[in-house]
Amino acid sequence: MPMETIAVSGIPFPVSRIALGTWAIGGWMWGGADDRQAIATIHEALDLGISLIDTAPVYGFGHSEEVVGEALVGRRDKVAIATKVGLDWKDGKPFRNSSAARIRQEIEDSLRRLRTDRIDLYQIHWPDPAVPLDETARVLEDLHREGKVLALGVSNFSVAQMEQFSAVAPLAAVQPPYNLFERAIEDDILPWSAAHGLAVLAYGPLCRGLLSGRMTAASHFGSDDLRSADPKFQAPRFAQYLAAVAALEAFAKERFGRSVLALAIRWVLDQGPTIALWGARKPEQIAGIDQACGWTLSAADKVEIDRILAAHITDPVGPEFMAPPGG
Ligand code: NAP
Repeated sequence: MPMETIAVSGIPFPVSRIALGTWAIGGWMWGGADDRQAIATIHEALDLGISLIDTAPVYGFGHSEEVVGEALVGRRDKVAIATKVGLDWKDGKPFRNSSAARIRQEIEDSLRRLRTDRIDLYQIHWPDPAVPLDETARVLEDLHREGKVLALGVSNFSVAQMEQFSAVAPLAAVQPPYNLFERAIEDDILPWSAAHGLAVLAYGPLCRGLLSGRMTAASHFGSDDLRSADPKFQAPRFAQYLAAVAALEAFAKERFGRSVLALAIRWVLDQGPTIALWGARKPEQIAGIDQACGWTLSAADKVEIDRILAAHITDPVGPEFMAPPGG
């Protein structure tokens, strides 16, 4: 099936609705990096029709951006790069910093690591309450006018914060957590974004691998893997989520002849002006991408999915554990 695409205001070509997420490629919080595999994964993604890659300076403290830059040598013009700004780090620990001075430094560091002269989509990674939002928006608008950045986005922002930002600078996209298990944005961010023409880059569409269908009660995560601190992956909740995945897997197979992973990505794509940021670090992890394209879920299918979720997950929890300090 051909890849579906979506226009993002400011990016010169429609981008794929499945994007490659490269947090794990940076290694940090994902149990280490394998650059050879990572570069092969990026090349596989491009070959499969992905034309949007999401990264961030903090992913491996520069490493993810460097690997993306290396992988895109000779192929830069065929792909849009989305990176982020506003998280600094010290001694391996991130903290929020969206000051104008920090942003002026970060853009140059990102352009160098990514081996490019422009960022297609530049997103504030997390809101920084210590810096007036207008200051942050104004410097980003300057970078936009200078042509270093083609489109602006925000991540982990509320609607009120997006309204404040848009009063100063044009906002093209928002990047919130969104997957079958984490649906808080349906109350406000998703409808607001649809009404204002923003693309919604849904992060964690597989809920950090839970919706891949490959996890079992025996799956173990090392102390340097964020899932060791993720409340969804701890007993007794882990069993509830695994049971929901098993029931979704049975539904996906019986109703569509597809995997739960394809169902999870399809569901994100069917919720609005969304882009699924599929995190992968091995080529085989995205090999089944076409399974998620070229079909849709009906309203009745979505009702059945909601029934399955409610039947199994009696003690739901969100992704709040991921927020860096200073919020
Ligand atoms: P995700 O896409 O829900 O899950 C990614 C993980 O799922 C992979 O690292 C892999 O884990 C597993 N996986 C993927 N495909 C698989 C397959 N075919 N079979 C088995 N396992 C598979 O989660 P995410 O990486 O957290 O989120 C995606 C992207 O969103 C990130 O890379 C990043 O670009 C972005 N993001 C942004 C924010 C933000 O604050 N803005 C926060 C989180 C993420 P293993 O390799 O360990 O098996």
